[in-house]
Amino acid sequence: MTELTGVYPGTFDPITNGHIDIIRRGLSLVDHMVIGVATNPSKSPMFSLEERVAMVDREVSPLVEKFGKSVKVQPFDELLMNFARRVGAGVIIRGLRAVSDFEYEFQMTGMNYMLHPGIETVFLMADPRYQTIASKLVKEVAIYGGDIAPFVPPQVREDVMARLAETNAK
Ligand code: ADP
Repeated sequence: MTELTGVYPGTFDPITNGHIDIIRRGLSLVDHMVIGVATNPSKSPMFSLEERVAMVDREVSPLVEKFGKSVKVQPFDELLMNFARRVGAGVIIRGLRAVSDFEYEFQMTGMNYMLHPGIETVFLMADPRYQTIASKLVKEVAIYGGDIAPFVPPQVREDVMARLAETNAK
C-alpha cells in the first residue's frame, strides 16, 4: 500500500493547544505529515516566518517521538495546492471550529478541489476543550495582560510574553 502524506497548513502565529490537538489527531490518519507555515504578511504576524517555523518544530518534536511518524515543518509562500503537490501530499488537513470557520473553509476547499481534484481536504472537528482558541485572540488576551497559559504550550507563552516585553520597551 502506498504511504499517505498529509499537509497541515496554517499561520501558527503562535501555535496553540488547538493546533497541537489537530496535529496529534491528524498523525493517526497519515503516514507522514508536512506542517506548512504560511508567510501570510497580510495578517501582520507577531512572529517572523523563521520564528514560527522554529516554534512549531520545537512543539511538535515530542509528538514525533511519541507517534514515531515523520513530521516536517516547512515554510511556504505559494498556492497551497502547489505546495501540497510539491511535497507529494494526498490530503490537506484542516481544523474546523465554529460556524465562522465553515464558510471560509467551504469556499477555499471548493476552489482548491477545482485546481487539483486529486487532493482531498479532510476536516477534523475542534475538540470542545480547544474549540474557542484562536491565535488572534491569544495575542489580544496577552496584549491586555491576561494569562494565556490555558491556550498555548508553556514555552510558547514565554515566547509571546518576551515578544510583548520587547515591543513595549521600544
Ligand atoms: P490560518 O487561519 O491562517 O489558515 P491558523 O494558524 O489560524 O491559520 O489555523 C490553521 C488551521 O488550524 C486551520 O484549519 C484552523 O481552522 C485550525 N485551527 C486553528 N485553531 C484551532 C483550534 N483551536 N482547534 C482546531 N483547529 C484549529
